[in-house]
Amino acid sequence: MSHWVLLRFLWYTFFMRKKICIANWKLNPETPKEALALFKATQSAIAKVKEVEVVVCPPALFLADISRVRGVSRKIALGTQDAFFENGGAYTGELSPRTAHAYKAQYAIVGHSERRSLGESNAVVGKKVRAVLKEGLIAVLCVGETERNDEGAFYTQIREELEEVLLGITKKELSRLIIAYEPVWAIGKSAENAMHTRDLHEMVLFIRKVCIEKFGKKPAEEIAILYGGSVKKENAHNLLVGGGIDGFLIGSASLDAQEFGEIVKTKGE
Ligand code: PEP
Repeated sequence: MSHWVLLRFLWYTFFMRKKICIANWKLNPETPKEALALFKATQSAIAKVKEVEVVVCPPALFLADISRVRGVSRKIALGTQDAFFENGGAYTGELSPRTAHAYKAQYAIVGHSERRSLGESNAVVGKKVRAVLKEGLIAVLCVGETERNDEGAFYTQIREELEEVLLGITKKELSRLIIAYEPVWAIGKSAENAMHTRDLHEMVLFIRKVCIEKFGKKPAEEIAILYGGSVKKENAHNLLVGGGIDGFLIGSASLDAQEFGEIVKTKGE
């Protein structure tokens, strides 16, 4: 083994964090049969991938079928797109973190902008994050500004979202917290409309700074920060290299198993 190969091996083994790619299928596909087919196609598309944590978040009703697929948790972890802050009671239509866990979900997306747009406040998102962590799941907390302007008010919005949602989270729980930065204006568009890498890098540094202020340097530096918003195979490399992120939260591109596989395989070097 040359020195260079050895150095790279040591660097990847001990210093680089594992990349994380989370598929958010949203309200797709429409039938259990299609969901199983998409899941199996995703399994094949990433079969040879190593050193990437791949998570699929299907509509919750499909979890039961998908959790029975052979080899399900070996390469792909399961997650939910939301989770309620109670495990039982008079809460019509909600999804309990405990039930999600029973169907092999290990992750729960919380505070997605499409849920916030239905009226979910930071206080409610915070309660959900705490409930998810208490149940032993990994919380994927979404934050993101609705619009950008030259005055930089969006930084205040992100700070507020983080500070209000993370109230009461202990340093110990932080190891099961992932932050997904998803600027709302960049969601569901084409690759050209994703965020510019320099702006993304600035925001990642800002999010890290807010977390350091709140939790201290060491625990805050261990939080994985993902980007979501029109990630496609064409822009994944640039975002990963220039954005200072640990991976992606992927919406529409995750419905195409091949494209999702390409994004998962993107190297951050
Ligand atoms: C999302 O909604 O979480 C998302 C990132 O969507 P898209 O990739 O389609 O922009």
